[in-house]
Amino acid sequence: MRILTGIQASGKPHLGNILGAIMPAVELSKQPGNDSFLFIADLHTLTSLKDGESIRSNTLSIAAAWLAFGFDTEKNYFYRQSKLAAYHTELMWYLNCFTPFPMLANAHSFKDKSDKLSDVNAGLFTYPVLQAADIVLYDARIIPVGKDQRQHIEMTRDIANSVNKRYNKDIFVLPEARISEEVMTIPGLDGAKMSKSLNNYIDIFLPEKDLLKQIKKIVTDTTPLEEPKNPDNDITFKLYQLMASPAQVAEMRANYEAGGYGYGHAKQALHELMLGYFKEAREKFDYFIAHPEIIEEKLAIGEKKVQPIAEATIARIRAEFKF
Ligand code: ATP
Ligand code: MG
Repeated sequence: MRILTGIQASGKPHLGNILGAIMPAVELSKQPGNDSFLFIADLHTLTSLKDGESIRSNTLSIAAAWLAFGFDTEKNYFYRQSKLAAYHTELMWYLNCFTPFPMLANAHSFKDKSDKLSDVNAGLFTYPVLQAADIVLYDARIIPVGKDQRQHIEMTRDIANSVNKRYNKDIFVLPEARISEEVMTIPGLDGAKMSKSLNNYIDIFLPEKDLLKQIKKIVTDTTPLEEPKNPDNDITFKLYQLMASPAQVAEMRANYEAGGYGYGHAKQALHELMLGYFKEAREKFDYFIAHPEIIEEKLAIGEKKVQPIAEATIARIRAEFKF
């Protein structure tokens, strides 16, 4: 089965990306019979970030994160979207011409982001079409993503299906989203969806002290230390639950409900839990960041490997237009 996932280079890879996309995608890539396409969506990044140096350093961090979680780049495909920009953007144009305007106007992610960002550009609006091109260009079947992406994958299916119907041929493979229900949407420091562009994220690769500082910024209510607290309304508890064992979760729940246990204590516990849970990944990440030439080399190999696949898809659709 062919699997594909991309991550934007709009910031550092965060806990939401890692639990929602990177870890499940790496797991799937290890199963026999699967081949995985993991890429850095750096063309998408331009919707929110215009500074080349930042894009470059974010690209290295995201790539290092994939590698830190054990992605096997020899068995699979690892690349930057920008290095195949000619294929992605050409296909996007064709798909644009099959995308009904209201479909984009009703996209949740556009509405969410355009409410919060100061720069609402046309790239942000047509983002789902570039994403559709990213997917169908490589005949991907399974798209492991966070819940925020469900609608985008449905749009991809609709657009690809209307092309197939128009020419009465299976030009494109129709993809399916694979969403881990237990992970769903991971909340950020302020309770909104953890996002690079909203700057409400937890960077699991920070040095220990900085990670604690970031965790301390998690918003809580004002229940005094000595009083019982409702764990189910609390962001720290929600994050803790995602990485802790059932016994640890039960103990933490009891601490909240007993009173005398403050949010500060819970944040310390979350910090410790994360340092343990991500110990190996943190070490590997630091190694790759210290060796950007290794990352570059792996990406360059992947970019060569995907090129003929992209070219074949473009040839199939061009044939229909007599281009
Ligand atoms: P941006 O703010 O630039 O959109 P992002 O943080 O939302 O960045 P993306 O690059 O858009 O990250 O998404 C990469 C992958 O991570 C997608 O599969 C997405 O579903 C997943 N993901 C992003 N945020 C979360 C989250 N808060 N919870 C679970 N999964 C998430
Ligand atoms: Mg996003």
